[in-house]
Amino acid sequence: MKILVINAGSSSLKYQLINIDDESVIAKGMCERIGIDGRIKHTAFDGREYVEEAEMKNHTEAFKYVEYALVKSDAAVLKSMSEIGAVGHRIVQGGAIFDKPELVNEDVIEKILELSELAPLHNIGSVQGIRACIECLGSELPQVVVFDNSFHNTMPPHAYMYAIPYEYYEKYAVRRYGFHGTSHKYVSAKCAEVMGRDISELKLITCHLGNGSSITAVDGGKCIDTSMGFTPLDGLIMGTRSGSLDPSVVTFLGEKEGISYKEMSELLNKKSGYLGVSGISNDDRDLQEKAAEGNERAKLAIKMLDYQIIKLIGSYAAAMNGVDAIVFTGGIGENVDVHRAAVCKGLTYLGVDFDFEKNAGLRGRIAELSKPGSKVKIYVIPTNEELSIARDTYALVSGK
Ligand code: AMP
Repeated sequence: MKILVINAGSSSLKYQLINIDDESVIAKGMCERIGIDGRIKHTAFDGREYVEEAEMKNHTEAFKYVEYALVKSDAAVLKSMSEIGAVGHRIVQGGAIFDKPELVNEDVIEKILELSELAPLHNIGSVQGIRACIECLGSELPQVVVFDNSFHNTMPPHAYMYAIPYEYYEKYAVRRYGFHGTSHKYVSAKCAEVMGRDISELKLITCHLGNGSSITAVDGGKCIDTSMGFTPLDGLIMGTRSGSLDPSVVTFLGEKEGISYKEMSELLNKKSGYLGVSGISNDDRDLQEKAAEGNERAKLAIKMLDYQIIKLIGSYAAAMNGVDAIVFTGGIGENVDVHRAAVCKGLTYLGVDFDFEKNAGLRGRIAELSKPGSKVKIYVIPTNEELSIARDTYALVSGK
């Protein structure tokens, strides 16, 4: 079966067409700047490309370009859209309502919209993506929604509650939700597979480090804690997000600078993190380059990330009373050896015996980076959120 995986944001629509029988990628692409001007970049499995700058007023117009790319362009891979057996959508916020993938119907769409208060940009974009698919492909084609936070729904209340008056949990469902769940689920399962062990007997810490970063404690295959919180702003320093800070910083700066809630959200989500500390860039590659030239603020931002990862790993090892393996994934986790080395240098107390030679230069492929005999194993496992969504979609539509 061919499954189209859609990841729609407020102004973008990423897609991957996956053949679930052999799990290969048939084509992938992205529409950007929807509602602004518009651009599609599409790549077929054999490297053929279709790129076009074209006005896309909304997600439905963008999806028409996806259809064209898949069926009619020079990089087409289908004779007709009817070859697609199901569509899987990534949804960022499923709240506590959705703890597993669901078939799309009006009731599900309504609930996703209700949850958009918790992730306004993301959930509304997702629903626009779903509606575009229904409009272009018809309501007969099965569509499945896979929630980014549902892997974290196994967290116990003592991990997900905030110590604020309980009424706000009851009234507004203010609690930790966690994100990147599809990625943490995928790499933890893959890690157990690579170790040749049953996940139910493993304590794992999965580090998804990219432009957005989060770390999860996975005990016996279930998430027991994760660093992102009520929103994806919490936890580690990220590309442009602050990560955790004393909430008094928010009230103090708000008063001193006369910053509104909306501006504060913009400041913490878009102007902080790597970008805010370094004043250079949100991208790790840029910071590594500047750090190598001696830029102190680039060095500081990089060091902050490594230090925070070490602290979180320590706290999750404590929370699980042990750890068998630590996994690095995401753009930084998969590709940046100096971060893995800096972090693992600080984990010898746990019994990590890191293979610095094997680590050097390693990019984007599965590898064990701990030496034989290391008490805690270290792995790099490239994440594959699209495949994970395609698998969940297939499981639901095929009943397997
Ligand atoms: P992600 O959000 O997972 O795509 O990760 C993006 C981050 O990974 C950026 O900070 C990049 O600088 C960093 N990175 C480093 N090397 C690579 C690479 N080869 N490919 C993609 N991202 C990379």
